[in-house]
Amino acid sequence: MNKRKSIGEQMPAFEEDDCKQALLRAKWPNGYRCPRCDHPAYYPIVSRRRDIYECRACAHQTSLTAGTIMEGTRTPLVKWFSALYMMQTGISAKLLSAILHVTYKTAWLMNHKLRHAIQIWDEAKPLKGDVQLYGDFYARPVMSGVFEPPDQREQPAVVGASISPETYEIEEAKMKRVPKSMFNRRIFDVGSYGTFLWRHVSDDHAEVRSIEIVRQSDSEGVTELGLLWRGVIGWLARTFGGIGPKHLQAYLDEFCFRINARSDVFGKLLSLCGQTPTVTLRGLVNRIRAVRSIRWTSSVGKKQPQRAV
Ligand SMILES: [Zn+2]
Repeated sequence: MNKRKSIGEQMPAFEEDDCKQALLRAKWPNGYRCPRCDHPAYYPIVSRRRDIYECRACAHQTSLTAGTIMEGTRTPLVKWFSALYMMQTGISAKLLSAILHVTYKTAWLMNHKLRHAIQIWDEAKPLKGDVQLYGDFYARPVMSGVFEPPDQREQPAVVGASISPETYEIEEAKMKRVPKSMFNRRIFDVGSYGTFLWRHVSDDHAEVRSIEIVRQSDSEGVTELGLLWRGVIGWLARTFGGIGPKHLQAYLDEFCFRINARSDVFGKLLSLCGQTPTVTLRGLVNRIRAVRSIRWTSSVGKKQPQRAV
């Protein structure tokens, strides 16, 4: 209860016009461009329902939300901006629906559309430099009260990070589920990291200095990646009461986004929202099945530490 109060108290009072201007800047950071002919000038057409931009050269009409994560929405922008604001800490759809006075389904979709924008960005940004990997299991807490067979409950995942060579701090983090087809045994072996290496570490060997597999703790205590994993488990338990396998990946990406966006989670997320085409409910559900499987070859060997001379 306290938590709801403090989030509500901190949230700025967004105004619809300010939100429009902010989304406009996120969508066209260098000013308006006609999506058809790239012309830089428009006639504004303000209607009751939405703002239209008509190209002065070719008369093509586009709306403010076209091509953004908010496209097709009937939810006012102030509510979207409030949802963006909440993403700075992460919030359940149930709590979001109570704060925004929208239905649970609307709140759920808003949260997942924001996560979709995060995921599209994340997928296009492989790790570089000195990369560390750590494998562990996510077990949905029993307190969620949903019975699942044991093999469904334990989700293997790889935590990966680019580590600063100067400060040894995490510069960029990713957490990815290991596809079931790549994980037949109960322990992590070198093959369990294959999909992560293939999809989330740069394949340009000049960009990757080293790859090291670390444990949760070593002689100096809990490793950075071990701590990160504990962090996400704690957050998922506190905020959502645990997450089932179906949507786990989206939540892992959301958690890492906050680390990677550092001090400007809101601004970075707004920029992604302005640049990412939206996704439908069907698209959100289908993408979960679209985990590619690969044939494992020894890319660990190929990418073994190559210290720059
Ligand atoms: Zn045009």
